[in-house]
Amino acid sequence: MARALSLVVPSGALTLGNLLGAINQWVADQRGTDTLYGIADLHALTTPHDPAAVRAATLEQAALLLAAGLDPGRCTVFVQSHVPAHAELHWLLEATGYDGELRRMIQYKQKSAGQQSVRAALLTYPILQAADVLLYDVAAVPVGDDQRQHIELARDLAVRFNSRYGQTFVVPQAVTPAVGARLMDLQDPTVKMSKSAPPQAPGVIRLLDPPDVVRRKISRAVTDSGRQLEPGTEPGPGVANLLAILAACTGEAATGVASYRELKESCAAAVIALLAPLQARYAVLAADPQTVTKVLRDGAGQARSLAADTLARAKSAIGLLAP
Ligand code: AMP
Repeated sequence: MARALSLVVPSGALTLGNLLGAINQWVADQRGTDTLYGIADLHALTTPHDPAAVRAATLEQAALLLAAGLDPGRCTVFVQSHVPAHAELHWLLEATGYDGELRRMIQYKQKSAGQQSVRAALLTYPILQAADVLLYDVAAVPVGDDQRQHIELARDLAVRFNSRYGQTFVVPQAVTPAVGARLMDLQDPTVKMSKSAPPQAPGVIRLLDPPDVVRRKISRAVTDSGRQLEPGTEPGPGVANLLAILAACTGEAATGVASYRELKESCAAAVIALLAPLQARYAVLAADPQTVTKVLRDGAGQARSLAADTLARAKSAIGLLAP
């Protein structure tokens, strides 16, 4: 089976969208050194950030990934900045990409809109993301729907580099889950549930939200006008989102829910049941940060040795003199 890699960005507290769109796929697909997952801390530097918050979020996310079920005996769990080859390959790929293709990225347009000044990194980070993936000869990238355009860019860069300088990179593919690939904000179901929303945002369920908070957020979720699900009618975005959350949490299509109230109650119960064991495991790991940092140190060692070959191949192909 194909090698897989995927990362989360420590730009806020992890959400239910991260779990159902990405992390659960990773947990289901752990195949030793052929599966690499972790935290893309360099990507958290693209917009104004608080250094201490990025460091704390990195450790919290690492503990949450383990609590969600990543097993360092069955996959590699690491932090991107612990493997310098990511930044090195980024530069070689910057010399392969064009500014026009970066300016077309939806996330760049959204995050730069209305800003007086924009960090250069916000424009170029999709190239770093391409480096994250191409460095490990990865064929599959298990992600949520919002990452498709970035993985397309990684494919374009790989194909361009290979045709210009000779076969060097595996051309990767995005893999998204059947349900839960794009969870929407509970208060505005036309935008995705995002971890960079303000910490108290009522439309975003965080993995560490206690049960009463989850229940309150879901009970206040925007639905359609009316009170009932109408069989045979296409639900509006708010109701469709709750149905998707329920289906993704229970693993089966929602049946026997008639009113919006019932839908919200079932949805809240399913989310709380999904999060309870994860939160219990997180509490144990949070009390023992040394265990988490040891996992990350070992993971970085494994990742560094996998990355070295590809980086050497790419440097040689593009014309750099071997040391
Ligand atoms: P990020 O939030 O950019 O760090 O994304 C980490 C992973 O979670 C990526 O694979 C995203 O595609 C996925 N993801 C983020 N938000 C959502 C969402 N609202 N629904 C589904 N997947 C998501």
